[in-house]
Amino acid sequence: MTWQDDAGRDLVKSFGARMQMFVRGEGSYLWDADGKRYLDFLAGIAVDSLGHAHPVFVDAISTQAATLAHVSNYFATPPQLALAATLKRLAGTGDQGRVYFGNSGAEANEAAFKLARLHGGSERPRILALTDAFHGRTMGTLALTGKPYMQEPFLPMTPGVEFIDSTIEALEAAIDDRVAALFVEPVKGEAGVLPLPEGYLAAAREITERHGALLIIDEIQTGAGRTGEWFAFQHEGITPDAITVAKGIGGGFPIGALITFGAASDLFYPGTHGSTFGGNALGTAVAGAVLGEIERAELVRNAAERGAQLRAAIEAIDSDLIDGCRGSGLLIGVGLKHPVSKALVAAAQEHGLVINAPNDETIRLVPALTIGDVEIDEFIELFTASLRTVEDALVLDASTQLGASTEVPA
Ligand SMILES: *Cc1c(COP(=O)(O)O)cnc(C)c1O
Repeated sequence: MTWQDDAGRDLVKSFGARMQMFVRGEGSYLWDADGKRYLDFLAGIAVDSLGHAHPVFVDAISTQAATLAHVSNYFATPPQLALAATLKRLAGTGDQGRVYFGNSGAEANEAAFKLARLHGGSERPRILALTDAFHGRTMGTLALTGKPYMQEPFLPMTPGVEFIDSTIEALEAAIDDRVAALFVEPVKGEAGVLPLPEGYLAAAREITERHGALLIIDEIQTGAGRTGEWFAFQHEGITPDAITVAKGIGGGFPIGALITFGAASDLFYPGTHGSTFGGNALGTAVAGAVLGEIERAELVRNAAERGAQLRAAIEAIDSDLIDGCRGSGLLIGVGLKHPVSKALVAAAQEHGLVINAPNDETIRLVPALTIGDVEIDEFIELFTASLRTVEDALVLDASTQLGASTEVPA
């Protein structure tokens, strides 16, 4: 029996076949059971902000587990209060802000969805969200996710959500005083690292405010320093009504949060929402330590600088496949001129590099925020070799078949 057999028999079929089995990680590196080393430029999908097995992460888990892990939300704990204060400070909510803790991105967005309903009441049944944005897989967040192929098997959806294009014109045309909230993903990560048009957030802030609708920004992938600011909305200097965070906040520990600003902070009242695990002492201690290390080691600045360095180095690669870079900081989409991203991901793993393909013509790079020259140089070497492998296969394919197919021979 191989691990592939076990996975194929025992794990839910909603994920495709697992590509590798990893047994250990350290910094930006992973090892499989055969001892082969991989450079990890996926970081568990923008989750492992400090890389793998960072001493700060390990120490926070061990120390808090040996002190107090969980008591339920009938009680407060010091790490929970400390993390709430830290998130408010980093997001710039001021005193009025409040934090709800859940255990994942979807749970943070479920809370945001309920926030929108509480704000809307019966007067404002409409919620606007952006076509192609991703907000999660639970029934509530799926209703917010503008991807028909994801919704289709699970219809009917929770009602009230309407999808609009990511332009200010589309927002102006759709909004009225019956809209409770606009949900926005500032850089559409799952859709292929697609940034919003320049100035979108600032204009959306003005328009939603004029109509009394909440502006809720999903920072689950972009938050925790990923884009070169603590949160992506800060690039445009606006104040949203709420943001949701998860992925990079816990550095590998499952945690999510809804952070509210201003009057939106008073919408929830006792009994309107809850979670057994959300915000427990263990999770909040780890996230507090991870954010503390991001701050101490100036990893937000590192994300901005290393992101620019990485993009420049990728654009300097001599390859007919690459079609430019998108994104900001260490949330990078590499466009491809042919729909060969899956083949490129497979070739990269052969070469010892973990990258991700959110769609057929994009590679997504979301490495740990800790990367430096060593990781970037090695990435460029391995990525160039992987590009060569795919280019050679494309040429071979074109010369042996009628027209180029998109599949690379195994
Ligand atoms: C990953 C992600 C989610 C969902 O988070 P889960 O932890 O998988 O539930 C929601 N929104 C965005 C923008 C994401 O990237």
